[in-house]
Amino acid sequence: MKQPAIFLFILIFLVGCESAPQSVKREGVAHHEPDIPEAKHEPELLVNGKDTLVKVDAYNPDIYWELKYATAENFMKRVLYDTLKAVYIQKDIALRLAECQALLSKTNPDLHLLVYDGVRPLSVQWEMWNALDSIPPAERGKFVSNPQNGSVHNYGAAVDITICDANRKPIDMGAGYDDIRKIAYPSLEAQFLASGELKREHVANRALLRRIMRSQRFSNIPTEWWHFNAYPRAVAKTRYEIVTREL
Ligand SMILES: [Zn+2]
Repeated sequence: MKQPAIFLFILIFLVGCESAPQSVKREGVAHHEPDIPEAKHEPELLVNGKDTLVKVDAYNPDIYWELKYATAENFMKRVLYDTLKAVYIQKDIALRLAECQALLSKTNPDLHLLVYDGVRPLSVQWEMWNALDSIPPAERGKFVSNPQNGSVHNYGAAVDITICDANRKPIDMGAGYDDIRKIAYPSLEAQFLASGELKREHVANRALLRRIMRSQRFSNIPTEWWHFNAYPRAVAKTRYEIVTREL
């Protein structure tokens, strides 16, 4: 008498599996779908010695992220992070970034911060540095921080960031993320605007990003429109422990 019940159970189980969704779909992001890791599959916290790093959207879900070095969509054209699948930064810095997003939402409710990178292990910094060995070390530092000094990213205290719309489409900055051409230099914007290679809209978009980030004391660097430090390197070194490898 028990056998039919067992068969019925197995049948229900198999039918249940058959109709289960194969993957979780996100609304409105179909064009970027393969590159966006599912946040819920990642730990909420990373612990590095005395420091706690959190996901970049921990205190404001309106912040979006796409970890470019966990994909091949980066200047190295290959996956650099093996286990790191979400963007993490120091907890106190995530609180400041949440305030930046609040200001951006107040300025324009359709806009979101889109973070491409946060903490970057020193081991990966070395990989990047060594991959650019065709460029003399003095020049190379413009594109990748010398791992001997440590990048502010290695302390979880820097972000690579842009602004996007509700569909995760980045606004036009006149040069892409990780573009090593001089047109990406904030320090040369006036020159490229005068030559017509940068449009007013590009410069205005970069200025908006800087205004939002500076509201919480993030500072930019002369050579990359997307890079912002939460603290200068010397201060980051005293506040946090360096992240030597993927946590
Ligand atoms: Zn950076």
